[in-house]
Amino acid sequence: MRNKRDYYGVLGLSRDCTLTDIKREYRKLARKYHPDLNNGDPKAEEKFKEISEAYAVLSNEDKRRQYDQFGFSRSLFEDFDFGSVFSEFDFGDIFDRFFGAGFGSPFSTRQRSRRKERGSDISVEMKISFKESAYGVKKEIEYNADDICEVCRGKGSAADDGIITCRECSGTGKVRTARQTLIGNIITTSTCRDCGGTGKIIKDPCKKCRGRGYYSRKRKVKLDIPAGIHDGDRLRVSGKGNSLGKDSINGDLFVTVRVMSYPGFKRDGNDVLSNIEISFAQAALGCRLEVETLDGKEEINIKPGTQPNKKIILKSRGIIELNGYRRGDHIINIEVKIPTKLTKEEIILLKKYADGREEAVDSGSHGVFSNIKNAFKK
Ligand SMILES: [Zn+2]
Ligand SMILES: [Zn+2]
Repeated sequence: MRNKRDYYGVLGLSRDCTLTDIKREYRKLARKYHPDLNNGDPKAEEKFKEISEAYAVLSNEDKRRQYDQFGFSRSLFEDFDFGSVFSEFDFGDIFDRFFGAGFGSPFSTRQRSRRKERGSDISVEMKISFKESAYGVKKEIEYNADDICEVCRGKGSAADDGIITCRECSGTGKVRTARQTLIGNIITTSTCRDCGGTGKIIKDPCKKCRGRGYYSRKRKVKLDIPAGIHDGDRLRVSGKGNSLGKDSINGDLFVTVRVMSYPGFKRDGNDVLSNIEISFAQAALGCRLEVETLDGKEEINIKPGTQPNKKIILKSRGIIELNGYRRGDHIINIEVKIPTKLTKEEIILLKKYADGREEAVDSGSHGVFSNIKNAFKK
């Protein structure tokens, strides 16, 4: 239904109607289907879009001629200033809502409406420690951003009356050039070179910002980094990006959090993993050991007969879950170390131990002799 795009039909007009007819019918229909008067009824919204698109084309002399000759084409909407088309109806906010970027209609092609300009976003990285990521932390970050110029208050002009309307484009920021071709006049619109598309000429530019209305300087922002944040997570601080001077909206600041590694600690979900080494005597007989946790040193009890890779779980001693309150666990993996070098006395003791349990052990002594023996075994 929308594909046909019968603009005259949509407005209930015949092809020979006048501009006054078009305005009158559009005004009537717009009042009827205006989304704010229809409680967001999707049918009314769709209708409102249809009539607005029709009006945008038919109310413009060049576009109407193009439409009459060639029918609907996307090129109808190239370099189209919707802000000025609908300015007399004061529908600015509605059009931003419907025909803003990404809407997927011809209206979403590059448009320069009266909408406020927005400064660019800024991305920075911030390093925090492993413990800070576990508990959360408040930190101040310093970075460079374009800020509104305090000397000219963002206008870019040294004098209050130093801004004049660009004569080349009459303040529209665009220049139109007509070209005669076989299929008729082709009108192209381009950005005005004299004013760079702003529509204004500054006679005496502000010296501080060189007429731009903003300049780069250091800025500090306090960040509340939540507990449980992961390495690579991005925080958005709205309005803390670059400015484009007076009447512009600041971009946003994006902070990518880099969590530094902590020796011996690993994160697994909200659990903290670490290893400790004990000797086989400690494993067999049990012992008490001091281990490091996020909360500091802590004594743990190794029971007699502890096997290699046994896990000791310290409940709720891990990382606080992101946007939550529960803490993960701290899981300690027990590694049992077998000695590689023994003294003579130790060998005697161990052999005695093995004999008592009737365990067959290598009878050769430690060192050169056993190596030679092993070599002959094969
Ligand atoms: Zn300035
Ligand atoms: Zn200009």
